Amino acid sequence: MAEETLIFVALGSNIEPTINVRRCLRELQRIPETRLAGLSSWYRTRPWGIEDQPEFVNLVVALVSRLSPHRLLRETQAIETRLARRRTQRNGPRTIDLDILLYGDTLVDGDDLKIPHPGLTERDFMLIPLLELAPDAVHPELGRPLRELICEIRYRQIIARLPARTCAPAAAATPPPMAAATVG
Ligand code: AMP
Repeated sequence: MAEETLIFVALGSNIEPTINVRRCLRELQRIPETRLAGLSSWYRTRPWGIEDQPEFVNLVVALVSRLSPHRLLRETQAIETRLARRRTQRNGPRTIDLDILLYGDTLVDGDDLKIPHPGLTERDFMLIPLLELAPDAVHPELGRPLRELICEIRYRQIIARLPARTCAPAAAATPPPMAAATVG
């Protein structure tokens, strides 16, 4: 049986984000051989790429899974489809966007999947929530602590961290508290 791996996945939504993030958290808990192990705060962020669209809600979850990186990508893409995401416009509005940020310290460099996610070093809305869950994580390709990389991001997109009551997921989506994780 494949070993369990600690994985971090970023969620983003700017169409009815509270509803869609909660739906997505429930869907993530239905992925086979996978459990939700941690949940960051939710952040309000400026849109990336196309600026003339509603603000986003972004957060990061920790998953522990026996699925391979590509199998997990298929599962996250199936969730995007079930949540009625339409890829009409690159970087445009979306019900849910799921990006695999880290998969243990594994490196993947395929046409369809790159891990660590290439945006991780330039997007504060990926790095900051990830650091909440894994403050000592090291970028497995660069060999540098993520907390160092955050200082180098020039364009800040996070506007605010949302109050805890907004982030409280539906009961079914509440993961157990997670000990600070180390990756890399
Ligand atoms: P986006 O429009 O940002 O959701 O990008 C989706 C595309 O990115 C899909 O075609 C994926 O195959 C590809 N992709 C590459 N690396 C990743 C990753 N680490 N996580 C999610 N999607 C990825």
